[in-house]
Amino acid sequence: MAAAVGAAVAGPALLDAPAVGQTTARHAPPPLPEDPFTLGVASGDPLHNGVMLWTRLAPEPTVDGGGMPPHPYRVRWEVATDETMSRVVRRGASPADAAHAHSVHVDVRGLRPDRPYWYRFRVGDHLSPIARTRTAPAPYQRRLTLDFGLVGCQRYTSGYYTAYDDLAAADVDLVVHSGDYIYETGGNSVRSDPLPESITLDQYRNRHALYRTDAALQAAHATAPWVFTWDDHEVENNYTGLVPEVGSSTPDPAAFVARRAAGYRAYWEHMPMRGPAPTGPDLRIHRRIRWGRLADFLVLDTRQFRTDQTCGTNDVGGRCDAAFDPATQVLGTEQERWLSRGLRTSTADWAVLAQQVVFSQFAFVPGNPGIYNLDQWDGYPAARQRVLDMLAADRPHDTVVLTGDIHASFVSDLKADYDDPASATLGAEFVGTSISSDGSALNAVVPLILANNPHVRYANAQKRGWVKHTVRPHEWRADYRLVDDVSVMGAPVSTATSWVLPRGGQLESA
Ligand code: FE
Ligand code: CA
Repeated sequence: MAAAVGAAVAGPALLDAPAVGQTTARHAPPPLPEDPFTLGVASGDPLHNGVMLWTRLAPEPTVDGGGMPPHPYRVRWEVATDETMSRVVRRGASPADAAHAHSVHVDVRGLRPDRPYWYRFRVGDHLSPIARTRTAPAPYQRRLTLDFGLVGCQRYTSGYYTAYDDLAAADVDLVVHSGDYIYETGGNSVRSDPLPESITLDQYRNRHALYRTDAALQAAHATAPWVFTWDDHEVENNYTGLVPEVGSSTPDPAAFVARRAAGYRAYWEHMPMRGPAPTGPDLRIHRRIRWGRLADFLVLDTRQFRTDQTCGTNDVGGRCDAAFDPATQVLGTEQERWLSRGLRTSTADWAVLAQQVVFSQFAFVPGNPGIYNLDQWDGYPAARQRVLDMLAADRPHDTVVLTGDIHASFVSDLKADYDDPASATLGAEFVGTSISSDGSALNAVVPLILANNPHVRYANAQKRGWVKHTVRPHEWRADYRLVDDVSVMGAPVSTATSWVLPRGGQLESA
């Protein structure tokens, strides 16, 4: 199934349209008695003239096949300039078939830059909710303001998605997800996820669907387009490339290849991702999203092409000689070259690396071997220095790194050389905390990180939440919106700390 490209307005409005199959009775798929839009709708990867729309038909979300008959369906969609859908500017119909879990991916084009749109889907007599999206500004547009949310790490069992309710009410233009959209294992904590560990395609689909039933997550998707990348748990904790984690349920290399293919496929099926579905264990997710002249988001993949971490079997430990081998990779040679080109050719006010694992040095014990989290860029100091050298050469004053993974809030100066506190500051790294995933493991090391890393300006592992970023040509502001307690439904959310980075300047607490 190729994503359908949006056509200009033609044909009847969704409410007047014939039920699916009415005009081609011989091939009509069976009607769907129950609401198939249980997973909500979503949009993503905005362009200045278009956006991706997504939904998936799944009357019974966590059952194999989503409770859908095996037949292909056609899903009608429309895009309007108003929230009541009275001024429709694009409409069409897109396929939803069992081979793609009845997911719908629509690559709508022909929209105007820098404005909101509303959209919905219809199949048979069922209408989806109406959701809001927006297009990016035109490439030449200047003097812009962008409000966006940074989110990530949403283990279902660990708590309620109160942070998403807060984000949905904040009227942002964009949401950036840094990965761990699902966790491959279930359990019973604040909430129950009774599904078995995800290994097969159906198991990954069912888990994505369980997460997607959350009303707050659906509301966050319905408020703005998302730009997203994955981390490890979309496949398996701490995997690197084609190497499973130590103690994996799929230690056999061939089994892990099949598992990665299943995880990537299910991710594609559940995200408003542009481009065709993957047919094997590879899927390109690194890409550039431009926001006028204001910001170029270079969305990175630090999992798929990474070389194995060989300094020990734990995340946390000393760096061995192998970590400093120039052959080690976090991005892989091709993505690294793509990044270098992107940084060199970007004319935006801000270069934004939207990625997964902590970029700044976090020495728990400094020196070498020292003690570091080897699953972060700290485990790959040679690869990190190559990126820093690119930034120092091409974007020395205006880079922001956005990060997830560790379930704690950090604000750090981005340094040209982490071992030299006097080296140039290239920008900042904002590590968002988790939407829900537990961060208590980091509490014990926060004092060590603050004591041993002068570039780390703020650290807080106590609370979950999201980060509201307000980007202007000469100033980047980050407000950490933290939830009192994710084990209590509807707990209060407040701004715990705010930071301002003047372009070309130094981070200041606001
Ligand atoms: Fe996580
Ligand atoms: Ca992770």
